[in-house]
Amino acid sequence: MTISKKSNAFEKIGKAEVLSRLIDIFGSTNVSNKQVDLYPYSYDMTENEPHMPDFVVIPENKEQLVELVIFCNQYAIPIVPYTSGNNVGGLTIPDYGGIIVDFGKKMNKIIHVNGNMMYALIEPGVTFGQLQKYLEENYPHLRYSYPNAPPYAGVMGNALLSGMTNLGAKIGSMADSVNGLEVIMADGDIVRIGSCFYGKEEADLNSWWSRYPMPDLLGLFVNWQGMTGLVTKCAVQLWPKEPVEKPQLAIFFGLTDLAPFLREVGKIDIINDIAAFSVEVAKMEVGIPEPVKYPEEPYYTAVIPISAKNEEHLNVKLNLLNEIVEKLNHQGTNIHLIDYNEFSKLYDLKARNIYDLPSQILSLHEYSGLTWFGAYAPTDKFEELIEKTDKIYKKHGFPPFNYLKIMKGGHYGIFRPIFRFKRFTERERVFKLAEEIADTCIALGCIPYKTPSWLTAKLREKINPGWIRLFEKVKRCLDPNNIFNPGRWNTSPSSNKN
Ligand SMILES: Cc1cc2nc3c(=O)[nH]c(=O)nc-3n(C[C@H](O)[C@H](O)[C@H](O)COP(=O)(O)OP(=O)(O)OC[C@H]3O[C@@H](n4cnc5c(N)ncnc54)[C@H](O)[C@@H]3O)c2cc1C
Repeated sequence: MTISKKSNAFEKIGKAEVLSRLIDIFGSTNVSNKQVDLYPYSYDMTENEPHMPDFVVIPENKEQLVELVIFCNQYAIPIVPYTSGNNVGGLTIPDYGGIIVDFGKKMNKIIHVNGNMMYALIEPGVTFGQLQKYLEENYPHLRYSYPNAPPYAGVMGNALLSGMTNLGAKIGSMADSVNGLEVIMADGDIVRIGSCFYGKEEADLNSWWSRYPMPDLLGLFVNWQGMTGLVTKCAVQLWPKEPVEKPQLAIFFGLTDLAPFLREVGKIDIINDIAAFSVEVAKMEVGIPEPVKYPEEPYYTAVIPISAKNEEHLNVKLNLLNEIVEKLNHQGTNIHLIDYNEFSKLYDLKARNIYDLPSQILSLHEYSGLTWFGAYAPTDKFEELIEKTDKIYKKHGFPPFNYLKIMKGGHYGIFRPIFRFKRFTERERVFKLAEEIADTCIALGCIPYKTPSWLTAKLREKINPGWIRLFEKVKRCLDPNNIFNPGRWNTSPSSNKN
């Protein structure tokens, strides 16, 4: 059943009039109010309650969007920006109805790549698969950094939501890789942020190379989940593609052996990333049907992408990695390293899927429902997080599925308990599990990202009141009528009134 929370969106103007205005702006083929077209936007893969939008529009350019925003602001009609709805947090479910703006269909061009300054200027709908193909064909010496998301998920959404990807151990949060944005504000003003801010009219395509050193206004749009404006262009950093690669697979036999390894390996700048999974689910990647751990099996496995400038450079890195394992095993852990290329040959190349990103990672797509408590985490709490969540999974009758990473040279970590479930029959069960895990992880200092409303309600109880007051002042200042994605961070249309 899909519903909308009570909203006064169409108190000031009738829906028929809205439809006619939307058709004026976007053309009749790019607007719909038909249930059959709206339904797919009313839900996502998560536990979050579905809600129907009232309209969907497919924009082609920013001029249309300026007209839309001015119109919606006048009548306080919600606008929910959407790319492909793959955020895994209920973030594009239109809690208060209104208009879905689907950027994925037509605003999906790679506008420019600057090979020297190593960035790509893209429209919001560009996907990981599209960017990867484009770079391979045109800039084979450059690469982007990819998450475990499917190839059809959006690059910009991931960067603006502080995604974590397969260069995470080096570069950290993807939000740090955004050089600049073009944004339409609630009053219809178009702003450009970053080094592209020079120039009265359109920015020079080669001017999107840095976010600093001016005041960092980009923070007004990063992690705001589409609540502060409509982004129409985004410049993301690219990186040199190192020619030699030799990924490793690490296997951890003790429940918490992974924790010190992540901390040690993060600090010495030899790996691109580390993606550690509970073994129950890691085994499913190579075709083992049931998520079960047998008594003598390891608790965790980790894929470790390592690349280098030449063989000599690679050997230095591999030696350093082996030294860490030897040192930790000497101190009592039981960790093994395996050449991932050799390992994957055993499994008919299925195991490559989790390394050759972007790809459709099978174990994440096997059920009708997928959700997580995806969190940035203090790495010195990894042991406690692993031990406590392990018990909670078992108590609720779910196989453990934790995903851990180290980010930006060890400065912070990722702790992401993942829940796969049958969306139509297990929603309540998974919600109870997710809540208990969230409470436990938040108590240990974790900070969730891609947050559904039930989680932001919980966070609001814990967060310093000064932070909340500033957050609300910024939101009111940028979006006085709360038209942009209302409901996120529990900003209902009425909560924006002073
Ligand atoms: C199986 C799976 C695995 C995943 N693994 C990872 C992972 O390992 N690491 C990781 O970081 N992520 C992961 N993700 C999440 C995914 O990478 C990102 O969240 C995704 O790329 C963004 O999704 P999207 O483009 O569909 O954006 P959407 O879900 O459509 O939108 C994301 C947010 O951005 C807002 N938005 C969209 N367009 C605009 C715009 N033009 N202006 C302003 N706001 C806008 C939306 O309102 C919403 O709040 C995974 C997802 C799936 C399904």
